[in-house]
Amino acid sequence: MVFAQLCAAMAVLIVGSVALDSIKTQTEEHPDLLGGSASYAAVSASFFQPVDLVGIVGSDFPEHHLDLFRERQIDLTGLQIVEGKTFRWAGEYEADMNKRRTLHTELNVFESFSPKLPPAYRSASVILLGNIGPELQNHVLDQSERPEFVVADTMDLWITIAQPELIKLLGRIDLLVLNDSEARQLTEEENLIKAAKKILDLGPKYVAIKKGEHGCLLLSRTEFFSCGAYPLEVVKDPTGAGDAFAGGFTGYLASLNRSRFGFTDLKRAVVHGTILASFCVESFSLYRLTKLTKGELQDRYDRFRDMSHYDEESRAEFRI
Ligand code: AMP
Repeated sequence: MVFAQLCAAMAVLIVGSVALDSIKTQTEEHPDLLGGSASYAAVSASFFQPVDLVGIVGSDFPEHHLDLFRERQIDLTGLQIVEGKTFRWAGEYEADMNKRRTLHTELNVFESFSPKLPPAYRSASVILLGNIGPELQNHVLDQSERPEFVVADTMDLWITIAQPELIKLLGRIDLLVLNDSEARQLTEEENLIKAAKKILDLGPKYVAIKKGEHGCLLLSRTEFFSCGAYPLEVVKDPTGAGDAFAGGFTGYLASLNRSRFGFTDLKRAVVHGTILASFCVESFSLYRLTKLTKGELQDRYDRFRDMSHYDEESRAEFRI
């Protein structure tokens, strides 16, 4: 299969945070990087489909970041630019890059954010509700007209402080994407398969549970797919990997230009998301994603396919 091509079609709607991040790893430290769930997701999705972005930034947000979005066919009509400071987040990674702690979060203009869909965005058929408060995610759905497929991301913070709103959201979406620790936190269930089933009982038709460098599980009530992560020797900064995954996943689905998606489509979307996430972590911020070519994407997709199929020739029986 050929890696999905960008084609002129209805844009995918992406809502989330647009941020200035300060990131510390064991070897490097960088302040004021372009970040935010919507930034990573929108740039990743833009490899497959035009994107309509909904978010908010302050008057301090650098113009060259806006240019970067525009160059990637990301429509900014829904990005509110208001007087004040942009949302800021700082995080620090341990030597084990699966472990990070938030150093601080400054809401700034996000404090008064109410996402407003421009009229042209309301008929979007595929929507990604990136990681923001679930009441804001619900508010976006209130304004949209019968989307075909809604993906939502969340995080530990919302499971702790906004669980009723999150539960309400789960009844309105098609797929929830979250990481393993969040799935355990939300369901109070250690086993991830049991946790996934409990999440499906709350409403969504599908759940994708990310396991960092160990890949991702995709489940419906009757189907299961396990996808490894692309093996990398050097991970510079894992920030945004989850958002790049969600953006690649959703952008790929939207590019199919269909009103219904089967489990095979979703499996392919998981693989496309996995490839985008693997590029994301190779640099800080969006540096690698914004330099990425379609040739590099196709090449990694082909390698990943080869390394995931251990026996192309035969459907040999288990030898006992
Ligand atoms: P990820 O590594 O996929 O979990 O995403 C990291 C991104 O999430 C960073 O670029 C942050 O700016 C953004 N982020 C962190 N905390 C929040 C929050 N409370 N709400 C929205 N976005 C956030």
